[in-house]
Amino acid sequence: MTDKKYVIAMDQGTTSSRAVLFDRSGSIVSMVQKEFRQIYPKPGWVEHDPMEIWSTQMGVTMEAMQRIDARADEIAAIGITNQRETTVVWDAVTGRPVYNAIVWQCRRTSGIIDKMKADGWEETVREKTGLLPDAYFSASKLGWILDNVPEAAELAKAGRLRFGTVDSWLLWNLTDGRVHATDRTNASRTMLFDIRKLCWDDDLLGYFRIPKSVLPEVRPSSGIYGYTDRFGGGIPVCGVAGDQQAALFGQCGFGPGDAKNTYGTGGFMLMNTGGDAVRSKNGLLTTVAASADETVNYALEGSVFVAGAAIQWLRDEMRMLRTSSQSEEYCRAVPDSNGVYVVPAFSGLGAPYWQQYARGTIVGLTRGVSKEHFVRATVESLAYQTNDLITAMKEDAGIEINSLRVDGGASANDFLMQFQSDISGISIQRPSCVETTALGAAYLAGLAVGYWADKDEIKRNWRREREFLPQADEKTREKLLKGWRRAVKCAEFWAKEENDGESE
Ligand code: ADP
Repeated sequence: MTDKKYVIAMDQGTTSSRAVLFDRSGSIVSMVQKEFRQIYPKPGWVEHDPMEIWSTQMGVTMEAMQRIDARADEIAAIGITNQRETTVVWDAVTGRPVYNAIVWQCRRTSGIIDKMKADGWEETVREKTGLLPDAYFSASKLGWILDNVPEAAELAKAGRLRFGTVDSWLLWNLTDGRVHATDRTNASRTMLFDIRKLCWDDDLLGYFRIPKSVLPEVRPSSGIYGYTDRFGGGIPVCGVAGDQQAALFGQCGFGPGDAKNTYGTGGFMLMNTGGDAVRSKNGLLTTVAASADETVNYALEGSVFVAGAAIQWLRDEMRMLRTSSQSEEYCRAVPDSNGVYVVPAFSGLGAPYWQQYARGTIVGLTRGVSKEHFVRATVESLAYQTNDLITAMKEDAGIEINSLRVDGGASANDFLMQFQSDISGISIQRPSCVETTALGAAYLAGLAVGYWADKDEIKRNWRREREFLPQADEKTREKLLKGWRRAVKCAEFWAKEENDGESE
């Protein structure tokens, strides 16, 4: 037990850096956020300036402390959570990055991955890392820097080069270069980490010609990584986890079967599978979940490419809404979608379909279809896609999901939450604190120093703001889901025809 007042979460996201101060009840006492530059050097390439990541993160943290006049000696711990997979490489002697951070969205290494698949590595990657070979993960990004930035190759030879995901980069700077480490959840997104043996994999390192000397040490997500003097006194940095894993932890998803779904721009579902690294038959990824101690928990992960983004599309391109939240009024103005289905496969379909050529599809139009029906069908698509992930997870893990904890911008939509509950036949639980990513990082850090005694204390902090229980009868539910499956088939058919056409 410590008498210090607050825990800081550094939440370093894809578009902004945020700092959140929490008190012992898990309530937010101060929060500051700052956006930073997105750099697009070529079509499909996405970079960030690592110095800007660092300076914005420092800036918001100082401001969040200053706003409530918090001193360093009142801070029990710092936790870091971050955009995953984004790759930073720097010189250990000067502390300078040798290249911009290559962001998870960047597709520049697609060719490297195509070659890897052609070389027959798909099964090995699945087995060792729980992932599917993709440019999204860090491995090919680091390989690209070593092959294309002469300074990086030279520094690597001299043993001076350091690689890290954003958590490592922040940690290294916070500790003035004393600590070069990452946590297991971030390591599990590099496509270089053996998630069962919990070590860097020599074969994969060999494939990308990555020397071991550049890699961070991998540690559990909760524990003292080091101390920072940056805020005017030694504060332990003692929690680290990738954003989605932090959110699962912040939702108290500690045990097998606990699941959370984030309805953000995209959608991310994670289900804790306990000590079993479950291999998916339905195109989900296997990843390491954050734990409060040395024990390893795994999770199945599924993502929806277009979730809240479909609502933005209604607002910005279709100009049917003034605000995202207005979508709810339209949904409630009609009793159903009048037989319309919208499949927002703007950039293909992810799990469990994996159809990269699928495109958005609207089916079931009749003369009576109004704007209200159209908006409702689009909002419903978020729930249908989420339901597909729930079904895939249940099948893969053989675990019943009885309730789903939710967060993210679109989880504020009560209509959507009720509809999710109806078609999935499960209870939907919305917490009062939806800043679950930051909260998860704070919990991991606070547990390491006894600010919170144990997971039970944290569980008592989780407060339900609202629960949604299934109200639809089985027949209606089946009918709706059947329609959705047929609509997805139409989107897939579109992809298939184009591919057949191309191969002719
Ligand atoms: P991210 O962290 O991915 O940027 P957020 O969690 O902030 O996203 O969620 C923003 C998304 O949620 C936007 O796509 C927005 O359209 C959607 N959204 C916000 N409020 C609502 C609402 N009431 N109903 C439906 N969608 C909403």
